[in-house]
Amino acid sequence: MLYLPCPKCNGELQIRVAKRGPKAGFEFYGCDNFPLCKFTAEKTNVVDLVKKEIFKKQIPTQDSKYWTREHLSKFSKKEIRFLASINDVSFNKQDDTNNIVDELLSLNDFELFEINFSKWCFLYEIRSDFFSGFSITHQSTSKIFSDKTKRYKVLDNKFEIGGEFKITKTKITLSFLDDYKVKNGSGNSVMLILDQDKSTAMAQIINPQVLNEENFKDFLLSI
Ligand SMILES: [Zn+2]
Repeated sequence: MLYLPCPKCNGELQIRVAKRGPKAGFEFYGCDNFPLCKFTAEKTNVVDLVKKEIFKKQIPTQDSKYWTREHLSKFSKKEIRFLASINDVSFNKQDDTNNIVDELLSLNDFELFEINFSKWCFLYEIRSDFFSGFSITHQSTSKIFSDKTKRYKVLDNKFEIGGEFKITKTKITLSFLDDYKVKNGSGNSVMLILDQDKSTAMAQIINPQVLNEENFKDFLLSI
């Protein structure tokens, strides 16, 4: 369920049906503090309207540089809850704002597996059909990190360059080219095999429903 905070008070917007007037019978959003609060919004543009009304600061997206604890901590409880809601992160009314921020930040975590001494596998779940130009970071003490910054070109299933994979002392960044688009149905995962002996990394767009713990090893051997 979408959490829509009322921009005018501490209430929450809920679907109502117009009882009279030219729009009688039509659904719209009204505040649950009615009649104290008379805020209403059309059903079709309610998300954009709430975004505009309650976010005075830049709205961070998962692929923006603002998707950090530092930036997210500047938002109010109401804003964080709304942000969680539009990013499909579920929460309970009594949940602490810090915990919701943790959940939001975990959307950008990716899994790292060591296949052998020079081969690594990264799994990243994408929650939309399209992705382009996003980057993700991972903090770890794993031995994949070295003092020197290393860059790898990312090749997709069609052997086209999709982006770059960068490893620094503390950070792994996977960035896709701005104009790079993949459409593979919803709920994609990116699986990336990095061979440190080579200068490229191989990215596969996979369906997480197809890949599971049991067939994962076989899948790795097949590529
Ligand atoms: Zn209200």
